[in-house]
Amino acid sequence: MQNDLARILITREQIQKRVKEMADAISATYADRTRGLVIVPVLAGSIIFLADLIRRLPFKMKIGLLTVSSYRGATTKPGSARLVQDLDLDIKDRHVLVVDDILDTGNTLRVVMGLLQKREPASLRMCVLLRKTAKAPKDLVADFVGFDIEDVFVVGYGLDYNDHYRNWPDIGVLRPELYS
Ligand code: 5GP
Ligand code: MG
Repeated sequence: MQNDLARILITREQIQKRVKEMADAISATYADRTRGLVIVPVLAGSIIFLADLIRRLPFKMKIGLLTVSSYRGATTKPGSARLVQDLDLDIKDRHVLVVDDILDTGNTLRVVMGLLQKREPASLRMCVLLRKTAKAPKDLVADFVGFDIEDVFVVGYGLDYNDHYRNWPDIGVLRPELYS
């Protein structure tokens, strides 16, 4: 698996340090209103980040799973987001924190945030591990961001290429010959 990476962009140590900082920021934000908090991970890219993040959040929460498919057979072409599996809990009057792996064009999170906003949550925030600053739209503001990265296709720590590499503990760039 390691041989498939051209380079490591963010090491597992850097990730863990940053996830702790993000958890502290999230805890401070929700300090007085953890009642009714619902964490909504956007599957499947956020699974590893989610697991590390929520174990550092010391309060009661519900977790509502949501699956969106953002069509990318090839690594570089963004696609439109499609809801594959909806939440199966009620978020009306709840504080909702959406967690995703990466904010790229924002197509995916725009769909998700729009959908959830209609259900009248008490508040709706967004947390992403990575943000590609080159394309991230100005109108879609993430409340918590782990790392701003350059516009390269990354894998590892939950992020896949054709469903592989999610279990790689670092975030890295694939060797280009593997996806051409
Ligand atoms: P957006 O809709 O913001 O363009 O893209 C969001 C989704 O596309 C992410 O949730 C992620 O699943 C996928 N994506 C975007 N950039 C990358 C990348 O560099 N690597 C991987 N593995 N997935 C990406
Ligand atoms: Mg995703």
